[in-house]
Amino acid sequence: MWKVTNKKNEIVLIQFEKEIIKPFFKILYEAISGIEQNKLTLLTKNIWEHCKTYKNMGEQQKKIFDYIMKNKYNNISFSDLVYSLINSLSSSDIIKYYKIYLYQNLKARKLNYDSILDSPVPRELQTVFSKFFYDKFLSAKKPVLKIWDYLIGDSYTRRDFHENFKLENELSICPYCDTDTINSKANSEIEHFLPRKYFPFLSMNPFNMFSTCSACNFGEDGKGTKKLTPITTPFNESIGYNLDFELNTNVEIIEIDSDVVPYQNYIKLLQLKERYEDKQIFRSVSRKIQIINDLYSDLELRYGHFTCESSIKETLDNHVKRTEKQETFTIVVRKLLFH
Ligand SMILES: [Zn+2]
Repeated sequence: MWKVTNKKNEIVLIQFEKEIIKPFFKILYEAISGIEQNKLTLLTKNIWEHCKTYKNMGEQQKKIFDYIMKNKYNNISFSDLVYSLINSLSSSDIIKYYKIYLYQNLKARKLNYDSILDSPVPRELQTVFSKFFYDKFLSAKKPVLKIWDYLIGDSYTRRDFHENFKLENELSICPYCDTDTINSKANSEIEHFLPRKYFPFLSMNPFNMFSTCSACNFGEDGKGTKKLTPITTPFNESIGYNLDFELNTNVEIIEIDSDVVPYQNYIKLLQLKERYEDKQIFRSVSRKIQIINDLYSDLELRYGHFTCESSIKETLDNHVKRTEKQETFTIVVRKLLFH
């Protein structure tokens, strides 16, 4: 619900794209077109070593590529996948997938998520992006330090991603739902807004990656691998201020709604209607509202003769505003009391 940015992680992930992802596509293309033109043969598994892009790399980048090629996921090495892709795809296939990669990543960068279609990608490319680049190189408990040390001269793990995200946005609260903190180490997954399962090419795109609470990340209570269009995201705007909240004291629930389709879809995608209908959320929000109302009565009693009602309200609204992104439910409290 909070508008956020992801600039610190963007700097790191752009470096990954430039030094790893783009040369990877180039090597595939050069190897396949070399075979198609009878300039290369598929006799050796390390055919990639004979490609111009690899040959022209500096010593350090070559070392990193050698290291990546040897890396294994579920007993399959990266070079096995490269070999299998070279065997099964044509050079025009590679151009087609590279264009899809560029298109999807550009659209995400422009925060235009509606125009990104889930184009099918070969299983091997899916594994490269989702299982190696994201799972193995960024998200794994045992981080692949060598790659990041080469790219940014420092280590970079999932924890660093979250640290950058929280620091940059001065954020302790889930930017998707405003109902939970993101301080606990249990909230350790990186949330891909467009799920890796259907959009593997966006596995390492900073405009598709959020620090969120666990409930929002998983399908049971939150989003999981669902996708809806038209949609908006916390990179686009502070969504919460455009939603309608109502305190239904009869049945003791908070109702959340909108007349606008992208907001309706956002509510549906994250199951916010059901989640905000939780009795404990009603009690928490009511308590916060009670505290503000008590404060209002105190101020009115003390200063009522000298100040007007609107300035007391403004003072209290600012008081709540100062706790935004640090405490839960500040959006719903502000909307119910002051808007
Ligand atoms: Zn959340």
